[in-house]
Amino acid sequence: MIKLFDSHCHLQDSRILKSAPKLIKEALDTGVVNFAVNGVSEKDWHLVKEMSDTYPSVIPNFGLHPWFISDRTPDWLDTLKGFLASTPSAAVGEIGLDKGSFGKKIDFTDQVEIFSQQLRLAKELNKPASVHCVRAFGDLLEILKSLGPFPCGVILHSYLGSAEMVPELYKLGAYFSFSGFIMSMKESKAKKMLKCVPRERILLETDAPDARPKLVDSKLEFFIGSGVSNSKEVVIGEENNSSSEENINHPANIHHVLAYVARLLEMEEKELSELSYENAVRIFSYEGSKLVQK
Ligand SMILES: [Zn+2]
Repeated sequence: MIKLFDSHCHLQDSRILKSAPKLIKEALDTGVVNFAVNGVSEKDWHLVKEMSDTYPSVIPNFGLHPWFISDRTPDWLDTLKGFLASTPSAAVGEIGLDKGSFGKKIDFTDQVEIFSQQLRLAKELNKPASVHCVRAFGDLLEILKSLGPFPCGVILHSYLGSAEMVPELYKLGAYFSFSGFIMSMKESKAKKMLKCVPRERILLETDAPDARPKLVDSKLEFFIGSGVSNSKEVVIGEENNSSSEENINHPANIHHVLAYVARLLEMEEKELSELSYENAVRIFSYEGSKLVQK
């Protein structure tokens, strides 16, 4: 059976938290053996930690997402350092920059400051960081250059940047992670970009409960991430998400991302699953990680 690693998701999200045990089991049954679960604010770091303590397959990540920086407490950075210190298996994420329709309402100087603090922390701790970037790739490159390189890796999650930026980002230590959002890119553009990404830096993810694949491979089962559908909280990811149940993504849908990316790369699904799995194991094998044999 194909083995997959969901390199970025949010199984602690209030829309699916209650059904997370079921989602993890169903995804595991299809061959998804690990889930990098990313916290987004001080309010959900404890949920990510609990999930990691319960499920050996969950790799915890703690970070303050740019959409939630206005809710931060004065102690946010110390709290984050505390979570990372008490959870050696954790990486940093989700952090980032956003100039999209939601992100542009959030002070960009603050975004840069908070992103940089967390990126420095990841580097100091020799851990990878999972990065969100919407319409701010120029700023991202500048910051990565000034603080980098990042030998432990930086995961550019749901990467939708240009093909031209790939080599520079690669040099700084970037991994390129693809989710269902890639299906919203023009196919020829996505294909060109994918072909520029060195194979040892390709990752696959679902960003569940967001990024529900639009283009579904009819040969594969499609999973609906049922859960709490009437949440009023802001959803993470692209702006066009709604919280309705049929839009809630499931980590088992990574098979649709695999099928789509493999087709664009003109590669066998099996080969892409193996290489993206090996890449994920490499980046998440820092000191203290659950993936490192004691
Ligand atoms: Zn995310």
